[in-house]
This record gives sequence, structure tokens and C-alpha cells, in this order.
Amino acid sequence: MRILVVEDEQRLSSVIKKGLTEDGFAVDTAFDGEDGLYLAESETYDCIVLDIMLPKLDGLEVCRRLRNKKMRTPILMLTAKVTVEDKVAGLDSGADDYMTKPFAYLELRSRIHALLRRSTGEISPMLTLVDLSVDPIKHTVIRDGTKIILTPKEFSILELLMRHMDEVVTRTMITEHVWDYNFDGMSNVVDVFVASLRRKIDKKSPHKLIHTIHGVGYKISETA
Ligand code: CA
Repeated sequence: MRILVVEDEQRLSSVIKKGLTEDGFAVDTAFDGEDGLYLAESETYDCIVLDIMLPKLDGLEVCRRLRNKKMRTPILMLTAKVTVEDKVAGLDSGADDYMTKPFAYLELRSRIHALLRRSTGEISPMLTLVDLSVDPIKHTVIRDGTKIILTPKEFSILELLMRHMDEVVTRTMITEHVWDYNFDGMSNVVDVFVASLRRKIDKKSPHKLIHTIHGVGYKISETA
């Protein structure tokens, strides 16, 4: 899952980026409202963390413009302000949730996971298919009772496939949601990661879950 963090306080931005990266997210950062708006419109994100007090364009305006363009990406607002009016303004501008600074990183992470669940219509935090279960918060994968160790990128690809269960996930979707802005899309790196993911998830089981859709991408489902 890929996240845009728009926050002008360098220290806070790097703490959030470090935490989310360690938790397996692909993270891009912007340090003012204009850059944030530009990235939000030109790249693909699963969630946007948006500070309200920003240079050039404030977070409320960024949020309003994105919503006016019918962009539905979940937006979590950060605010140093604490009045009820400010919270209402944030939600009225089209944000899905807000957090008041200072906050604990773990709470931010939990709220992001909740927004991701809501945006894909999931109720349980666990993603399950047949005997495979994936926990996006604890980053654990279990197949047929056995724990499977994945690299962060393998995990992110599996999480994306599970969130789009029974749907075709294209290579482009994988590069957009799993890698950040610096990704070199010219290589066959997606196929390499999917191949290693498949070895770990499917090789020992007679029931294959990850299917190749030739010329298009991949699908995870009970049947091909
Ligand atoms: Ca700020």
C-alpha cells in the first residue's frame, strides 16, 4: 500500500515516513500544499496523510480540491489545532479522519489501517482466503497453520492481491501501490517478486491461490 505524507515539519515527516516504511508501506513525501496536491493528482495512493497548516496551500484547500475532482482516496488530516470548529472544518472539507498533534505513531498506523479497510469494504482486520490468512497490522502470514516469512515488498504485493481478491491486479497497479516515486518501472522486478512470493505461498500446497493472467497481471482466488 502506498501513502502520501504532506507535512512541512521535516522532523515529523521523517518520523512518519520511517515508521510507515518499516511497516511495509511505500511512502512519498511533500512539504507544502502545492507539491502535495500535484503528487496526489499525478500518482496513485491508497491513503493521504495531510497536515492542515502548510505553506503555499493549506491542507483544507488541498482536500477540497481533491474532493472536487472526485478523488476518493482516504485522507487523514493532521492538525495542531484542537477546537471543535477546526475538526468540523477538516471533516467538512472531505477528510475521512483527523488526528491532533502530538500523536503516537502507533495510533496513526492504526487509523491508516482502519481507513484502508473502510475504503476496500473490509470489516475484519484479517485478510483470509481458504487456508491463507494475512494480518496487515502484525505483518504475519499463515498458510495451513504454518507461519510464512515474507520480505516487506513480497508482503505488500500479497496484501494488495488480498485486498483485490478475485480481481485481476495488473503489473501497473502493483508498481503504483507497492513502490514509491523513485521506482524504476523499466525492469521486470514485479515478476521477480511475485515469483518468490508464489514459491513461499503456493509451492508446498496442492491448492494454488496465486494465478497468472497472461499479458495482464495476477489474481489471488480460490479457483483460477
Ligand atoms: Ca504544518
